Amino acid sequence: MRKISIFGATGSIGQNTIDLIKRAPDEYDVVALTGASNIKQLAEDAVALNAQIAITADESKLDDLRRALGDSGVEAAAGAQAITEAAHRPADWIMSSIVGAAGLAPGMAALSQGTTLALANKESLVCAGKLVLETGRTHGAEILPVDSEHSAVFQALVGEPIDAVERIIITASGGAFRDWPLEDLPNATLDQASSHPNWNMGQRITIDSASMFNKAMEVIETREFFGVDPAQIEVLIHPQSMIHALVGFNDGALMAHVGPPDMRHAIGYALHHPARRHLPVERLDLASIGTFEFRAPDDIRWPALRIAREVMARGGLAGAVFNAAKETALDGFIAGHLRFTQMSDVVSQTLEEMDATDGHIDATMTLDNVLQTDHVARKVAWSAIKKRAG
Ligand code: NAD
Ligand code: MG
Repeated sequence: MRKISIFGATGSIGQNTIDLIKRAPDEYDVVALTGASNIKQLAEDAVALNAQIAITADESKLDDLRRALGDSGVEAAAGAQAITEAAHRPADWIMSSIVGAAGLAPGMAALSQGTTLALANKESLVCAGKLVLETGRTHGAEILPVDSEHSAVFQALVGEPIDAVERIIITASGGAFRDWPLEDLPNATLDQASSHPNWNMGQRITIDSASMFNKAMEVIETREFFGVDPAQIEVLIHPQSMIHALVGFNDGALMAHVGPPDMRHAIGYALHHPARRHLPVERLDLASIGTFEFRAPDDIRWPALRIAREVMARGGLAGAVFNAAKETALDGFIAGHLRFTQMSDVVSQTLEEMDATDGHIDATMTLDNVLQTDHVARKVAWSAIKKRAG
């Protein structure tokens, strides 16, 4: 039996992972499951999968968790520290699917035990790509991408020499506001930004898809994961979300990865890698789909894509500042302090201010420095939000 842990088990990726695990319960020995506020789901899954331990990020919910686990024998714990400690518990395969920079420390802990890390938490690579990859290499850990575009690129590269790659094209649906008149964007509501045309995902990544911050993060993720030059990475708007990525080789060939917009494909590929196993995803009927559309992205509608290029050019810990500012701006939008279009202003302003006023971006990339930079960037971003909120 394979020992597995799922960090962020109650979220959209976590639940899709559990869906696959529950289909073959005899094959998996579940070590740790983590969540935050959804105690009912966390406890239900921990009991059903007979996990060693269930951990909530929210320390005030420890008693609720204990109560929900009852006399099942599943251990309970709470807090960020307990989550990271659980990532040291031996496991053969660990899913990193906490949302946000909170996923970085547990992911690093998992890598330090030399396990296989299925990485959905793109923030880890945006904040600290070099550190994450180096930690994996040092400990002989394998990192498998779970983001659909990166899984697609990874699959298109099987058996191919990386030096024959000319370009990597990741697709974007365009999110909720792809076809909105530009002048309506400042009035976009939280509800409107929280509905995705094709994918069913957590609220934060769904809003990031509408603002294109998700794709901006994925451009950086592509650069870190595959080690290519930023100039080799392209974003292509593809409203159907069925071609997830394309790899262009030096002989002119483009290898495309095509599949339904269902994260269980990328999760299942990472779970069974290097084998392929039957997965319960829709089989595409291309004749009935008929048409795939493509268009170039628009930097005016989606300034996030331009900001990602600036972050890559700046280097150092700019990615950690970018991510923290983006997460904070998103908190500001969700709380009603910012308009939809002001999120990118806050991110740009935070990057500029931190570049001009202190040395955080040029600090050495250690876990402590990244977390400290994240902390400072959130404060800078909050003051930028407060100014706009009046
Ligand atoms: P989600 O919001 O549905 O779930 C997030 C999970 O993280 C939950 O289990 C939640 O309890 C936990 N969590 C939240 N805050 C936490 C904290 N401070 N500390 C510890 N745990 C915390 O998110 P999701 O959509 O499943 O996305 C998870 C990650 O996967 C993100 O990094 C996202 O970018 C990435 N991803 C998601 C999808 C998707 O289809 N949902 C696709 C590609 C990549
Ligand atoms: Mg993606």
